[in-house]
Amino acid sequence: MKAIIQDLSFEQIKELASSLGQPAFRARQLYEGITQGKDISQISTLPNSFKERLLTEFEDCAVKIKEVFESSDGTKKFLFELADGNIIEGVLMSYKYGNTQCVSTQVGCRMGCKFCASTLNGLIRNLSPGEILSQILKVNAAYGGTKEKRAVTNVVLMGSGEPFDNYANVVQFLKNLTSQEGLNISPRNISLSTCGLVDKMYAFAEENIPLNLTVSLHQTTDSERARTMPIANKWSIAEILQACDNYFAKTGRRYIFEYSLIEGENCDRRHAEELINLLKGRPCHVNLIRLNEVNERTLKATDEKSAYRFLGLLEKGGLSATLRRQIGSDIGGACGQLRASYIKKQGD
Ligand code: SAH
Repeated sequence: MKAIIQDLSFEQIKELASSLGQPAFRARQLYEGITQGKDISQISTLPNSFKERLLTEFEDCAVKIKEVFESSDGTKKFLFELADGNIIEGVLMSYKYGNTQCVSTQVGCRMGCKFCASTLNGLIRNLSPGEILSQILKVNAAYGGTKEKRAVTNVVLMGSGEPFDNYANVVQFLKNLTSQEGLNISPRNISLSTCGLVDKMYAFAEENIPLNLTVSLHQTTDSERARTMPIANKWSIAEILQACDNYFAKTGRRYIFEYSLIEGENCDRRHAEELINLLKGRPCHVNLIRLNEVNERTLKATDEKSAYRFLGLLEKGGLSATLRRQIGSDIGGACGQLRASYIKKQGD
């Protein structure tokens, strides 16, 4: 595979253009074209000779929208193809305040959570900063968005992969995504979800990218958490909470916990009480979601009535919590489901 031009910051594009003997305005045209979601060959403002030179070094298209699936609720799910043929997935969800795109950060995942489809075949490889960014550039362009009036207004790093297991590339991606010369999406409109890599949570607090830090908690004790999340053997819930408090102290941003409700696993009255004890008084929010059942997994979602009962208990206990509606479940909405079914189809 050749290099990915979308990896580069505007500064680096300027250096590149100048090293190839191009005037400064060509750098701006190139970066504009990239930000508009164009492949190098499609940037009509650039002379062919310059584009041909770039194409000796860089992939023309880092990420291609291969298939789009539309849910009855308007959610769109994408299969993307990378330059080396790997397949990743993403989602675009419409809300009153705008459109949120969920992006993948790795091909597969090695965290091994028992409820998640992304990790079924382990980690294939990390995505480069530009491969993460290009998912957004392509979708923004496909829905008529520009830099000034974006079709994608919010971004969540909640697709396949563990963002903090691909730390340097994810940080570079976030810098490029939030840069003024690029799509210029505010960190306030970005959420990063981690299964709780505590050392990276501390490091990220120093990066000066004050986004919405989200931690996949899903349990209230370390031993129960380890049943479905192997990472719990490495970092304890107490260590996660300390790292979250540090993030709040450094950034002033409230943090969020993801809690997927799994029948018979994590949503008894006792769990609600323990969650309240853990989180009460902390500057945080709890996002509940009923498990999206994955074919290859045996875990079951809790029923809707019990989910609302659990939410009620948390609220009564003084926590800020919401039960997210399950969207796009008719199109394999959960992490990694679409890619897993695509790969299975190819193998049949
Ligand atoms: N690796 C990161 C990013 C994945 S984000 C993380 O673990 O946070 C996706 C969120 O959906 C995580 O909270 C994850 O635990 C959760 N999730 C994964 N599979 C799910 C499923 N089948 N049903 C409900 N939530 C799921």
